[in-house]
Amino acid sequence: MINCSICQTQFESIRKLSHHIRVHKITLQEYYDSYMKKPNEGICVVCGKKTSFRGLSEGYLECCSAKCSNNHNIDKIKQVKLARYGSSTYNNQVKVKETCLERYGVSSVLKIPKVHENGIKAAHSKESNNKREQTNLTKYGTTNVYASESIKTKIKQTNIFKYGTEYVTQNPDIISKIKSTNLKRYGVVCNLNTDEVKKKIGTKEVQIKRANSLRGKPKHSKLESLFESKLNELGYVKDQDYYCQYRSEEYPFYVRFLFS
Ligand SMILES: [Zn+2]
Ligand SMILES: [Zn+2]
Repeated sequence: MINCSICQTQFESIRKLSHHIRVHKITLQEYYDSYMKKPNEGICVVCGKKTSFRGLSEGYLECCSAKCSNNHNIDKIKQVKLARYGSSTYNNQVKVKETCLERYGVSSVLKIPKVHENGIKAAHSKESNNKREQTNLTKYGTTNVYASESIKTKIKQTNIFKYGTEYVTQNPDIISKIKSTNLKRYGVVCNLNTDEVKKKIGTKEVQIKRANSLRGKPKHSKLESLFESKLNELGYVKDQDYYCQYRSEEYPFYVRFLFS
């Protein structure tokens, strides 16, 4: 049972009381403000602006806008995590993986094909590139975050705080973790040592050969093309009267003409 604070009539529910308030010629909000409002209620917990009144049972909203409400929820989650796990950014990785596997058959949401695809598309769209550059420019004075000295220092500081070294790869724990992951995955400590990788990139000689073969592709400059067309006009025949040579170890120049 609930009493009307003005006339003391009893009602079974807040709803019935709400209907009754009219007889006193005041609004629900006025009634609420006078008799039910708690201290600090009606003020956005995030930004301090006024919030909306929702009725006698709900009172005022905690936040003024969806944006503040979002931030507030994130804060709440962080507080719960801090209280429960001692870290506001705690994530139960095992649980996350399990849930993801169960739902999508992959161990990370980023591996869901559509998500992965869209993520790449979104991250590389012209719009997001521009936006990122603009943000970086105003924030750090450079379009590339990694070029900014303050960011470099910040990354180093974070790394020192988190791992005890300036660069993640200097940390013995990280190194041994990488090594053990490689051992598990590839059967060797460093994944450049696998036969598979070796086969893919080939020996040094193979790599040099490949580079040379690419360089050796007939690639005339404009001037050379013009020169060749003039030769042809004059009746010179390729591979009979003249030969084209391309860059190779033997001839470290771009195409040129050798006359027989
Ligand atoms: Zn009343
Ligand atoms: Zn707000």
